[in-house]
Amino acid sequence: MYIVFMGPPGAGKGTQAERVAEELGLEHVAPGDLFRQAVKQGDRLGAEVKAFMEQGILVPDNITIKVILERLLSQAGGEGVVLDGFPRNYNQAVALDEALEQQNKSIDWVVNIQVSQPELVRRLSSRWLCRECQAPYSVDGREAEAVRQCPACGGGLYQRPDDNPETVTRRLQVYFAETEPLIDYYRQQNKLVEVEGEGGVEEVAGRIIRALGYDGGDNN
Ligand code: AMP
Repeated sequence: MYIVFMGPPGAGKGTQAERVAEELGLEHVAPGDLFRQAVKQGDRLGAEVKAFMEQGILVPDNITIKVILERLLSQAGGEGVVLDGFPRNYNQAVALDEALEQQNKSIDWVVNIQVSQPELVRRLSSRWLCRECQAPYSVDGREAEAVRQCPACGGGLYQRPDDNPETVTRRLQVYFAETEPLIDYYRQQNKLVEVEGEGGVEEVAGRIIRALGYDGGDNN
C-alpha cells in the first residue's frame, strides 16, 4: 500500500500523514523530517540541503529523489508507506512511478488536503513544535512564551526557522508553481482523494479515513 499526502504548507499534511500511517500500520516517510534531522546532525546531507530549506525552495531533485527512493527500497518488504511531502514536482512524480513499477507496485491513493490561503498563513505563523517529540501546537507568540513546554512530553517549544513570514510566502509560491500541478497528474490516474482540511485534527483525520474507505464504507 502506497499513499501519497499532498497539500500546501500548513495544510496539516504531516500530522495527518503520521496518524494515517499509524492507523494503517504503514511506514511514514517525509523528506522534510529527514532533511531537518540531517541538518540537526550536521552531516553531509544536512550541509547539502540547509540553504535550500532556509530559503523555502525545493532541495534539488538529484538529492531528494535519491534519498527518498533509497528509503523506499529499504522499506520494500513492509506493509507499505505513507509519503508525506514527496513528490513535490513532476520530475519526482515520474521518478516515483518508475521506481515503484520496477517493483511491480504502484501508488494506491493520493490524499490532497485543501485549506484556504488565509488559513494557511495563519496556521504557519502560529505553529510551534516540541523539540523533543516534534508535536505541533498552534499558539500565538505570547502564549508560546508563557507555555514554553510541550503539554505532551514537557520538551521545549520552538518555531521552525522556515515558518517566518517571508519564507512562508516563498514556500506557498513554490507549492502553487511546482506541486499543485501534480493534482491533475493524479486525478487523471484516478488516484486523487480530495479532503477538506479546515477543522480540528480529529475531524480531518476522520474525513481522511472515511475517504480512504477504512471505516467500513467505500471511498466514493
Ligand atoms: P516540509 O517539512 O515538508 O514543509 O519541508 C521542508 C523543506 O524541505 C521544504 O521547504 C524544502 O526545502 C524541503 N523539501 C521537503 N520535501 C521536498 C521535496 N519533495 N523536494 C524538494 N525539497 C523538499
